[in-house]
Amino acid sequence: MEIHNVTEDIVLDAVNEIFDEIEREGKKDRPCTCFQCRLDTACYALNRLAPRYVVSSRGVARAETDSIEHQQEEADVVSLIHEGLQKINKSKRPHFEHQSERERPADFQGPAFNFPTIIGRLFNGNNFEPVNDVDVFLLADGKSAEMLDPNWQNPYRLVPATAGTFSFWPKPIPAETVGEERTFEFSVSAAAPGFEELRHFFEVTIKSEHVTALSFSMQRTLKLPDMYLFPPGGDEDQ
Ligand SMILES: [Zn+2]
Repeated sequence: MEIHNVTEDIVLDAVNEIFDEIEREGKKDRPCTCFQCRLDTACYALNRLAPRYVVSSRGVARAETDSIEHQQEEADVVSLIHEGLQKINKSKRPHFEHQSERERPADFQGPAFNFPTIIGRLFNGNNFEPVNDVDVFLLADGKSAEMLDPNWQNPYRLVPATAGTFSFWPKPIPAETVGEERTFEFSVSAAAPGFEELRHFFEVTIKSEHVTALSFSMQRTLKLPDMYLFPPGGDEDQ
């Protein structure tokens, strides 16, 4: 049993559908459809929609989203996604390669620990506004975690268009066999002038799979709890 936000399913599915369609049309002046731009657009919409939580397995949650009463909601989602797509495309992240390929050659053959994309949000603890122009770092065993490809950055620079949302996609790691379970220790850190350095530790337990997962799936996402930067002296624990 888990708590699940149905709005996320609707938005992520709709973003992929819309971006896939743009790719298929293949117009010359089409917006970028890379993973990062898809994710930025999904975050744009999700930050403007109310979450709808259900306690259920994912399959059950999905069935519920098909009902007619949610059609209007979906229409709103689609228009929000188009709005986000335009905004994100105008303020495209610098320094990314914005590659559109969904598949790329693996660095190694054989069993692999495939990491989920890791998403979180960072707020100013004084006014609960999203934080901008701050670098967020993902560390694995205390060292900077290597990202899957150049579309993904570490550190991640928070920009206003994504309202405090950051994302990472760690590179797969070779495994000895298929079905091997291992727990990886990560931490997210951020520092901004006038605030205490934030450090959030978390673990990800992964079962090795027979190949590296290099095609993007937004359903394979780990969401971290919201994080807050506080001025020095507080005893808030993150
Ligand atoms: Zn892009």
